[in-house]
Amino acid sequence: MTGFNEHEIDTARETAARLGVDQVRFIRPFFPADAPDDWFSTMFPRQTLTHDHEAAPGCSWLYRSAYINWDGGLIPCCRDPRDPGVDFGNVFETPFSKLWNGGKYQAARTLLADPGRHDLRSGIVCGRCPVTRGA
Ligand code: SF4
Repeated sequence: MTGFNEHEIDTARETAARLGVDQVRFIRPFFPADAPDDWFSTMFPRQTLTHDHEAAPGCSWLYRSAYINWDGGLIPCCRDPRDPGVDFGNVFETPFSKLWNGGKYQAARTLLADPGRHDLRSGIVCGRCPVTRGA
């Protein structure tokens, strides 16, 4: 949820209900600390978005959530949603379950478990994330 789409909460809930989605959650975005004020929503103001990767290493996004762009592009989180080159696939072309267990997800999960696997970084958004970059 960001300052740009906060006004669409009701529409998102209504659309989800119409599609038969049984759960809708609005989540904290992954913004840089110096992001402009208008990026932040009243649901998740700037002060709620700090994350210390050294104090709390690791990432559960690859196992619990997904980010689908307007064009069907799938990535594991909102870290780099504007680069189609890092998509894990497209849900308009491939069933979500296949992508969720597909090669890019498997490579990203392997990288997360072993950040020393530099051979897996190319083309995977997690490869340039602070969560894995320190290794
Ligand atoms: S880019 Fe970073 S925060 Fe996003 S799923 Fe990968 S490791 Fe997690």
